[in-house]
Amino acid sequence: MATPLAQGPDAIVAKLHEAARNVAGAGGLSAATAIGVASPGPLNTRTGMALGVPTLPGFVDYPIGEKLHRIFGRPVALANDGVAAAVGEWRFGAGRGCADFVYVTISTGIGGGVISDGKILSGRNGMAAHLGHMAIARDGQVCNCGRRGCWEAYAAGPAFERRAATALAAHHTAAQVFELARGGQAVAQALVDQEAEFLGLGIVNLLHIFDPERVILGGGMSHQYAQLSHGIDRVIHSCAMPAFRDIPVLRAEHIGNSGLLGAAALATL
Ligand SMILES: [Zn+2]
Repeated sequence: MATPLAQGPDAIVAKLHEAARNVAGAGGLSAATAIGVASPGPLNTRTGMALGVPTLPGFVDYPIGEKLHRIFGRPVALANDGVAAAVGEWRFGAGRGCADFVYVTISTGIGGGVISDGKILSGRNGMAAHLGHMAIARDGQVCNCGRRGCWEAYAAGPAFERRAATALAAHHTAAQVFELARGGQAVAQALVDQEAEFLGLGIVNLLHIFDPERVILGGGMSHQYAQLSHGIDRVIHSCAMPAFRDIPVLRAEHIGNSGLLGAAALATL
């Protein structure tokens, strides 16, 4: 169901309760032993506090973990949505059996999760891996977080659609632009090439920082993986240090559901 953004955090939590009560299969809510939540961050996953989530108005110092625990009366495992998706791919998808990988979700924003040395990289407050807010330009485009130059402000879906609206002098969805490029439209192809370059620039940073075995791309933009992968590989081969150039970039296996699978896995750990 759609998130009732305008009504604030308590209304959103009530909606979650309503949705859970309506779960029909496998005994429904009464059979659930734990609650797993994948939410946009920043969240302190150790204390259960949402700490000013840019995409969720009102989630400022909001004790989402405690509220959900009170409503459901069960243990609550709270995870950043990017981290949850990384865990979903780790357990059930393109990261199976892999001790070191970086998962990147590219949709309305860019998020992710890092599995390093066989463990989830959590950081001090469970807030590690806000990959989209890695700056790739000083004084660059304004990001959802209010800062400038973040990777997300260049490579996420809305940034791509904004560039497309200017270049094509009309609004198109990202999927439409990729379709135009497949049909041989030169301007659309240039937009796709540029998107691959922005993605590649960020990925090269991730290769150098985390030395992963693979990089896994999820989120809506990864549906276009077939048209982006060549351009991303080109950036890796021209910009990464030679020792990092053979790291493969793969598509997630459960696009759209990785976060749900990961939240469930984390709740039952
Ligand atoms: Zn940002």
